Amino acid sequence: MAAPNQPQEHTGSYYAATVSEKTDYPVLEGDHQADICIVGAGFTGVATALTLAERGYSVILVEANRVGWGASGRNGGQLICGISGESKLAKRYGESVTDTLWEMHWRGNDIIHERVEQYAIDCELKNGYIDVGLKARHMRDLEADFENMQRRNFPYEFRMTDREETRHITGTDMYIGGLLNMRNGHLHPLNLCIGEARAAHGLGTRIFEQSPVTEIVHGAKPRVRTAKGSVEADTIVLAGNAYHALEPGHLSGLTFPAGSYIIATEPLSEEVQQQINPLDVAICDMNEVVDYYRLSADGRMLFGGRCNYSGRDPRSIKRTLAPRMVEIYPQLKDARIEYEWGGKIGIVINRIPLLGRIDKNIFYSQGYSGHGINATHVAGEIIADAIGGTMEKFDMFERIRHIRIPLGQWFGNQMVALGMIYYRMRDLM
Ligand SMILES: Cc1cc2nc3c(=O)[nH]c(=O)nc-3n(C[C@H](O)[C@H](O)[C@H](O)COP(=O)(O)OP(=O)(O)OC[C@H]3O[C@@H](n4cnc5c(N)ncnc54)[C@H](O)[C@@H]3O)c2cc1C
Repeated sequence: MAAPNQPQEHTGSYYAATVSEKTDYPVLEGDHQADICIVGAGFTGVATALTLAERGYSVILVEANRVGWGASGRNGGQLICGISGESKLAKRYGESVTDTLWEMHWRGNDIIHERVEQYAIDCELKNGYIDVGLKARHMRDLEADFENMQRRNFPYEFRMTDREETRHITGTDMYIGGLLNMRNGHLHPLNLCIGEARAAHGLGTRIFEQSPVTEIVHGAKPRVRTAKGSVEADTIVLAGNAYHALEPGHLSGLTFPAGSYIIATEPLSEEVQQQINPLDVAICDMNEVVDYYRLSADGRMLFGGRCNYSGRDPRSIKRTLAPRMVEIYPQLKDARIEYEWGGKIGIVINRIPLLGRIDKNIFYSQGYSGHGINATHVAGEIIADAIGGTMEKFDMFERIRHIRIPLGQWFGNQMVALGMIYYRMRDLM
């Protein structure tokens, strides 16, 4: 195992084992200049870099480990519309932002579809997703979403599913209904992240890996420093999400790392795949502490859930998740678990992603609170717009007053964990 703060290779996930292209960008050495320097090559950093490169900026992307090493290369691969905290943004700004929120709700999906096609990124992108309800309250929320989609003439296939159809789609009797949506879907997230980085590189973005940024020097031309080099830029973008501790004076006490975990079974027989997921959709339940799962391209069950908000990883991911998977799918009781892994998501107390600026020229975007594939791509575009002087969406986020939990990260994580115990109790009731 690498020593703390030493650059690391990818975690032992199913995605790392099946990645289509291993990256090997150089370590940052010597002094460099660019218009924009981005710290962190997950979806936030890579999507922002690609948008800026498409717009003609010179960009340097500095990653502590490997492109997609963090949550972006480890997640459930569920491409789900929406940004966490939308209802709070709607409440804060009222009617005037309804259309903007609806546009942002889907914008990340559109960006990803466009890029996969434009840059020929092979990331197993597949349409099809169902939100499933376990109780009447969940179904009321899904009905409200459905009615909103109808009102908005949502142009892709979507429909409410009753208990019978939900049982057919999910192969389990666990759920009382669902909302099927063919614009959401699923993909191989590490391949998407690496593919987008390759596209940005092709447009001139300089990428450095295995280069943890240790310091930011403020000024009219801020500078990031690593052990062996530095980058001076007009603008810096911090995209380290739950994995970075830079700028503590501004950012500590605002985002809390929570663990989320996934197991992958051995490839299942065609017959079992047909029983449990005949439409090959991603499935996510409506609980606060969600179960989320899908089949991989090679027919494995990728089952995720049971977030840990206290900051401590479970002793055995397999023993934590497999019983829940088997409760839903008893036929998987003997399926071998071949991969187990976890990653960190950034939680913000009010769930609204933390987008802001320090000294006008150091931007940050983090804390997607569970969502992320869509939200990071929306955030990348919002930050690129703001750097270009279009501030409307960025301002919507920057003006939000976030709760800062004092007394350090440990205390903050215990507060978040306590809050989640409340939600878990609600799920169970
Ligand atoms: C197990 C799991 C399952 C999930 N499932 C889903 C899902 O199915 N659908 C969904 O939409 N979202 C999901 N999410 C959430 C989603 O993955 C994240 O919100 C999203 O990937 C965040 O992207 P990011 O680029 O901001 O952060 P990350 O992907 O975590 O990237 C941050 C990067 O910054 C780098 N970094 C940190 N500090 C420094 C430094 N000092 N110098 C240089 N580099 C640095 C890190 O090495 C890392 O590569 C899941 C998350 C996890 C952990």
